[in-house]
Amino acid sequence: MNEVTMEKIVSLAKRRGFIYPGSEIYGGLSGFWDYGPLGVELKNNIKNLWWRMFVQNRDDMYGVDTAIIMSSEAWKASGHVEGFQDPLVECKKCRHRFRADQVEGKCPECGGQFGEVKQFNMMFKTHIGATDDAGAVSYLRPETAGGIFVNFKNIIDSFHPKLPFGIAQIGKAFRNEIAPRDFLFRVREMEQMEVEYFVQPGEWEKGFEAWRENVLKFLTAIGIMRDSVHELEVGDGDRAHYSKRTIDFEFDFPFGRKELCGLAYRGDFDLQAHTKASGVELSVIVDDATGEKTVPHVIEPSFGVDRTILALLASAYTEDDSGEETRVYLKFNSAVAPIKAAVFPLLKNKPELVAKARGIYTELKKAVPQIMWDDNGNIGKRYRRQDEIGTPVCITIDFQTLEDDTVTVRNRDTGAQERVSTSALLQRVTADV
Ligand code: ATP
Repeated sequence: MNEVTMEKIVSLAKRRGFIYPGSEIYGGLSGFWDYGPLGVELKNNIKNLWWRMFVQNRDDMYGVDTAIIMSSEAWKASGHVEGFQDPLVECKKCRHRFRADQVEGKCPECGGQFGEVKQFNMMFKTHIGATDDAGAVSYLRPETAGGIFVNFKNIIDSFHPKLPFGIAQIGKAFRNEIAPRDFLFRVREMEQMEVEYFVQPGEWEKGFEAWRENVLKFLTAIGIMRDSVHELEVGDGDRAHYSKRTIDFEFDFPFGRKELCGLAYRGDFDLQAHTKASGVELSVIVDDATGEKTVPHVIEPSFGVDRTILALLASAYTEDDSGEETRVYLKFNSAVAPIKAAVFPLLKNKPELVAKARGIYTELKKAVPQIMWDDNGNIGKRYRRQDEIGTPVCITIDFQTLEDDTVTVRNRDTGAQERVSTSALLQRVTADV
């Protein structure tokens, strides 16, 4: 087995139009990445699968899309203004800055001595409106959860849900990381997929267990192998003070075993804090007859979209040395593959073949939009291109198609080819989408 390295993944992602360095023509901007045409399809597939599994397929979930900028009061109440910080050290000699928990002893750049450890708040500050006084300060949200808690009362008032129920959000979050690194693993602008699941205080353990299984179910559904995910019970000293239980789901990234997503029991910390700071009661009626209310407790599964994409790329990257040249392919399952099938006319200078292939392509594309046309170069080159972007099947229209309406369907992973009738093609392409 060849080693899957970050260099290989980053290079393929750029070459094939998945992910580009942010602001690249200006020399790049550390911690920011841009998604290209295939990256955005991959990302949308992941987000759509998550939304379908955790919002649309359930009766107890409410989806929201809240503003990135909120009242700074909300970030004070949640503890972020005070405490969303990492320890920072600066080298006295070269002035490079590092996260204190990621370096030991001397500066890795120049060997110099570090100054004192300082706390660095990771929220991006901004000003609202045409003034720059302190009252106009706000922040780009460092997590999507904040917008969920602030809308808790709105959901109660509009939908009157009974416990347990959840509110879900997918959206951008920003963290001014001291040391962005490892491609999409630690970035400054990212996307998160988060659920706040509200339960009766006495039922948190049941809810936690159910979400633990849900996290694994989602990771499996997108094609991350179960044996590359490891649950880490976060110890007493390392958990947030309000959390009685937290699990980090770690993944074997090429640079080591690191957190992919997390599951935390947050008690009633957030609802109590926002109630206190806003003066608005955030509770739910638990007994219609008596009108008894409770402040629910919260289970929070939190996924980073970008980290998930990196884990998927690392899981899917495969090199096949069985032929003369090494064949590289991304072993995406059909559900996440950015392109579900590619359609080729065998030759591009035979109008009859091209017209037939165009007809098949147009029909398929009506049912499955993520279909690609390719008539560029020889068939071998086209296969290699599709392999590298993880297209599960390639469909070739040749002279036999004109006679018997069958096409060649070639499987990405095995390279095996079979003749399939055009009438059975759609079913074949959509079988596991
Ligand atoms: P870490 O310890 O790696 O900084 P965290 O514990 O601070 O992560 P959370 O606050 O729990 O992370 O955020 C939830 C999820 O958001 C993480 O599991 C991860 O998937 C994602 N995430 C957090 N920070 C980043 C980042 N800088 N870049 C990419 N994804 C991130």
